Amino acid sequence: MRIVVTGGAGFIGSSFINYLKENYQCDIICVDKLTYAANRDNIKYDVEFLEKDICDITVEELGEYDYLVNFAAESHVDNSILNGRPFVRTNVEGTFNLLECARQNKNLKKFVQISTDEVYGDMADNHLCINCAADENHKIHPSSYYSATKAASDLLVLAANRTFGLPYLITRTCNNFGKHQHPEKFLPKIYQCVKDGTEVPVYGDGKQIRQWIHVDDNVKIVADLMFDERTLNNTYNISSDIEYKNIDIVNTVGEILGKEVKYKFVPDRLGHDRVYRLRMVALRILHNALGINKHLPYVFLNLKDYLKNLYK
Ligand code: NAD
Repeated sequence: MRIVVTGGAGFIGSSFINYLKENYQCDIICVDKLTYAANRDNIKYDVEFLEKDICDITVEELGEYDYLVNFAAESHVDNSILNGRPFVRTNVEGTFNLLECARQNKNLKKFVQISTDEVYGDMADNHLCINCAADENHKIHPSSYYSATKAASDLLVLAANRTFGLPYLITRTCNNFGKHQHPEKFLPKIYQCVKDGTEVPVYGDGKQIRQWIHVDDNVKIVADLMFDERTLNNTYNISSDIEYKNIDIVNTVGEILGKEVKYKFVPDRLGHDRVYRLRMVALRILHNALGINKHLPYVFLNLKDYLKNLYK
């Protein structure tokens, strides 16, 4: 089995490669342009590595493969506010180029597009409201150039399926935490500030709500879905169902480190969504079919426990 993983030197892509190598017999070909966000050392195993832009990769360079998993993306919302162009280039044109290559591969079992909860846009804060959480059929309503380009790439995948019969799987995941996340992201940044005793930048009132999943749980679910034939041509939300307000995470880091938190409330991010909340309808239906009715068979590593262990 041969699997192409794009963006495999990034935070989640590298965990995915490591997980596959530890649990499956497969050859992996990693395609990564090695942007500022990448670190090749995150990959613990010897895999074929193509240092290439997904916008330029060719059918010949990719060869034959069973699955293509597209993690490559410009992924930091703040950067997309400063300059959206690289986001359009990589997330939209890059995905288009990968689809054009993949549809010529007659052996392809699935094109796996790694997407995000952010494509659904802002949810209502009120749990009683119908619009408080997004299932897989929720309208796509992105708020940033990041999420809009991710939504566009999802739609290109759907179009390639409808027009050319390309087999696909789309996963939309909540916020990930875990080893090897780039220091520019929320959790590593606030952790470092609290640890160093410097001011912690908090957007707006800090009451934005996000769900959090450990990267190891996320990649296990992605792999399970990828290899399961019943998921063909479907979209799956992936979440832990565990949510926190940003400010509560900052306070928790302070408590765990035993440090007084110095807040620096800064003007809110432009277009900042208040709430992302996924409802995992498709994954639950799949597990119900297997007779697993109560709990999903995944150990969701808790954010607070993770932070406590990080400090030890
Ligand atoms: P990341 O920024 O850590 O890694 C992205 C990787 O893609 C890097 O290795 C980078 O070099 C590579 N890359 C970027 N542009 C490229 C290009 N044009 N050609 C080839 N390689 C390129 O991102 P991440 O946090 O690991 O996210 C991976 C995927 O998961 C993204 O598609 C993101 O939208 C999605 N996602 C992330 C989260 C999260 O919490 N981190 C949540 C939901 C979805």
